Amino acid sequence: MPYGYGYGYGMGYGGMYFDWTYLLVLVGMVLSMWASARVNGTFKKYSSVRSMTGMTGAEAAKRLLNSQGIYDVTVQHVAGSLTDHYDPRTKTVNLSDAVYASASVAAIGVAAHECGHAMQDNEGYVPLRLRAAIVPVVNFGSMLSWPLILIGLLIGGLGSPIVEIGIWMFVLVVLFQLITLPVEFNASARAVRLLDSVGILHGEEVSQTRKVLGSAALTYVAAAAASILQLLRLLILFGGRRRDN
Ligand SMILES: [Zn+2]
Repeated sequence: MPYGYGYGYGMGYGGMYFDWTYLLVLVGMVLSMWASARVNGTFKKYSSVRSMTGMTGAEAAKRLLNSQGIYDVTVQHVAGSLTDHYDPRTKTVNLSDAVYASASVAAIGVAAHECGHAMQDNEGYVPLRLRAAIVPVVNFGSMLSWPLILIGLLIGGLGSPIVEIGIWMFVLVVLFQLITLPVEFNASARAVRLLDSVGILHGEEVSQTRKVLGSAALTYVAAAAASILQLLRLLILFGGRRRDN
């Protein structure tokens, strides 16, 4: 393959002709949109199902943490919707508007999921530690990946080592998405198990909560799939061309 071909191909990106690899990005986008519509729907549905104990998300969270001997984690309210998260630096379980004071099955499920992260942190769960360790590098990588690829193409064409570094930075982003999966699945599994065994939810409520958390987990799977598709696209467009020169 002549050297100039690859160069022109890279430069033609988004230009005169249709770049079929963009379909990979579109598939990823559709997957992510589908998953987020699904989680919104499921959350909304079970937000209107009041739990039998009448406990709020915040109360359930405190009860769950204490049941595991965790007393140094604060449960607090955070503004916004779907902003729920556990912060290991401040040791806080942050619950959003729709979760903190709500006694719905969905709210209790989300609160319990965040407590699942607090328990992971408490016992030094390895995937959680790994994820926390690579966060700064990943932020850096996701910011610089495309600029490096474009600069590399401009300066040295497809064989440029700068392009390769840009692709490796994107690999880091994919790795991060993959490490996120066991962290999220494990937090939800703990949540469902404990809500049942501690007696915060009963019978049917347990399987309803499982549905809410299952659809939330799907959004992480979709995000990982989308970034793998993007990496595939990068590799098709810019990867492995050195041999051709
Ligand atoms: Zn989570």
